[in-house]
Amino acid sequence: MNLNWKFWVPTCVHVGRKVVTRKSGIFQGLGRRVFIVTGRRSSKENGSLDDLMDALQEQGLRFIIFDEVEENPSFTTVERAAQICREFGADLVVGLGGGSPMDAAKAVAILTLNPQLSAEDLYDSSNYTTALPVVAIPTTAGTGSEVTQYSVLTNHEGQKGGFSSVLAFPKHAMLDPRYTLKMSRDLTLSTSVDALSHAFEGLLANTSTPLSDTLARDAIDKIKSALPKVLESPDDIQLRFELLLASTEAGMVIAQTGTTLVHAMGYPLTTFKGLKHGMANAILMVPVFEHVAKTEPERVRKALASFKDVEELHRFFDEVGVHDVHLSVSEKEAREWVQRVTKSRHIRKTPGFFTEADLVRIYLSLETTR
Ligand code: NAP
Ligand code: FE
Repeated sequence: MNLNWKFWVPTCVHVGRKVVTRKSGIFQGLGRRVFIVTGRRSSKENGSLDDLMDALQEQGLRFIIFDEVEENPSFTTVERAAQICREFGADLVVGLGGGSPMDAAKAVAILTLNPQLSAEDLYDSSNYTTALPVVAIPTTAGTGSEVTQYSVLTNHEGQKGGFSSVLAFPKHAMLDPRYTLKMSRDLTLSTSVDALSHAFEGLLANTSTPLSDTLARDAIDKIKSALPKVLESPDDIQLRFELLLASTEAGMVIAQTGTTLVHAMGYPLTTFKGLKHGMANAILMVPVFEHVAKTEPERVRKALASFKDVEELHRFFDEVGVHDVHLSVSEKEAREWVQRVTKSRHIRKTPGFFTEADLVRIYLSLETTR
């Protein structure tokens, strides 16, 4: 057991139905002019944007809405949003939506107070010491971004990568499972398996800690039980609540441990093959576990938590539909992606020993595992 560790999540988490309107005083305590960062459509359809506007109006706060955040937000988008945020004179940023708007909000909060910086500069946290406060309101149950210091952006070459800064931790997270009721089957699945991979990876990582392990095991149990049921009963608020809570727990896990090779290998599958972030992680989970198990079977047994073995996890992914994804990867593509993966910090956090040839083989195996 790791005897030298800390557990730190500075985000205050508020949970419950209508929490955004019930706790509207939180916004008032943080600023007078609010910059809302959200996606193009979903927050207008699931009631979350109306709730947020009601809450801000009730507190007499001025706000503007930036509703142009795309999936896997780009450098260009966050730089443009920061410019608008600065011109508005905002003193609070609210990220409303899935991981993409929440991550964009974190970048905007830093860039707004540091006009000399480009999005690229965010990746060296010694470049900045100030940020606007962020409130995060998730409408998917997957990334846990509402309680992490990470923001994953896509650079001008189309490559995804996360930056990390304590300034990016949201001050408050507001969790209302009602917003997640409108998620499609595919989105429910891909976001749930993202949270699941955060929990597995946190248990597997060389950086795992006893307390994050406890949260990770609980998140895995919740998702294992609730996901198959929610795919049958999407309107069940109690199941939605379980998944949302599990996602936040798993976010708290990776806030301590970081993610592993699974995430690093998944990014090119999203950028270049259009796979949803969570699905990319999920299809990599089994082959990465199998490889680590060759040299460190105990680590994998621990990381599987309530799954008996890798076969049971494989069957679970089969049942919920992870392996229905269609993917083809050429050797040339795999070799290019591996060059970047081997340079990522994720690889040091992953137990076992991976050569470049191992990573190429794993990418190529994805064609046959579906
Ligand atoms: P997302 O990219 O934020 O959104 C995906 C899609 O879901 C969008 O079309 C969005 O529509 C829609 N959507 C959002 N909420 C919805 C709802 N309640 N009902 C119906 N549709 C809804 O999805 P995500 O999986 O939550 O986030 C993925 C991003 O987070 C990736 O960039 C990933 O790398 C990142 N991530 C970050 C962390 C972290 O710690 N910061 C961890 C893991 C992943 P609109 O565009 O119309 O809103
Ligand atoms: Fe993730």
